[in-house]
Amino acid sequence: MSDLLYRIKEKQDLTLSLREEIVATFGDRGKKALAAIDAGKVKQYRDFLVVEGRTAEYVVDEDFCTCRDFLYRGTTCWHLLAVRIAMGANLVKLVDGWYQDRWNISRGEPGS
Ligand SMILES: [Zn+2]
Repeated sequence: MSDLLYRIKEKQDLTLSLREEIVATFGDRGKKALAAIDAGKVKQYRDFLVVEGRTAEYVVDEDFCTCRDFLYRGTTCWHLLAVRIAMGANLVKLVDGWYQDRWNISRGEPGS
């Protein structure tokens, strides 16, 4: 993993051979990670990194994810994978805003 990431950082890009290697190494998780990166679903807000999944968004820290896979199985989930690859290849989508604000907005104003 670290060697592969190192080479992604060196290229600053996801070449076809790197993509093939990611899928060969991580299987389905690698495919999901690449699809999310390609779709601009790995996003850097001012306060959090967020990966948009099929049904929910997950807040990802360097070695931590809020999804069930990570919390209950302790595995490196595809969100973590996507963040590491996207950061290495400089493909994180920057969002000018606080992720926390979105939570507040979706909950509505207090007392309303
Ligand atoms: Zn996760």
